[in-house]
Amino acid sequence: MQFLFALRSKGVTDGRVLTAMERIDRSRFINKGLFAARAFEDMPLPIACGQTISQPSVVGIMTQALNVQPRDKVLEVGTGSGYQAAILSQLARRVYTIDRFRRLVNEAQAVFDALNLHNITSVIADGSFGLPEQAPFDRILLTAAAEDPPGPLLAQLRVGGIMVLPVGQSDTVQTLIRVTRQQTGFDYEELRDVRFVPLIEGLGED
Ligand code: SAH
Repeated sequence: MQFLFALRSKGVTDGRVLTAMERIDRSRFINKGLFAARAFEDMPLPIACGQTISQPSVVGIMTQALNVQPRDKVLEVGTGSGYQAAILSQLARRVYTIDRFRRLVNEAQAVFDALNLHNITSVIADGSFGLPEQAPFDRILLTAAAEDPPGPLLAQLRVGGIMVLPVGQSDTVQTLIRVTRQQTGFDYEELRDVRFVPLIEGLGED
């Protein structure tokens, strides 16, 4: 209850998003032991491969901005712990999630299986190229910061589709933006300041 209250007070007000976040136990996506006690605090936490699980309120704000509909096919770039993908799986028909670290994808997939989240497909790949074989997507979410929206991802967004991503240099404050694809081009909106790990080219070593 306190978790939902904290989310609301930080601007997560969409009922469907709050219900999804109530259903998915964040502690399942965090290393047992070290940080488990902090799973329901509104802070990012370290995960394997030097990456981070995002702050719950930021997950909520991004999910809300994406305005996912029940029939949607969603692409997430940056699986990390799998938490964000699990939230998306409650709102969408199908979720594809990509990470450049094999270890993160395997660990996240094990949690999806344990939680019976069967509408998520996880893929080990460089997500800056998207997933051409499954395109177009209704919604695309990046959880790593790019300097600009990657061209292949813009190309894989359906007309009428929405993409939410942090843009900017990795060592400074970045801007969360929402891109909407129109018949004739793209609309860009700035939402708020955020801080994410960078989108890195190529596969990770782990
Ligand atoms: N959404 C995650 C948090 C992601 S942290 C969660 O809910 O826990 C950002 C992730 O983006 C990291 O796991 C990192 O490995 C991944 N990443 C960075 N560059 C990438 C790329 N080019 N392709 C795929 N994943 C990438």
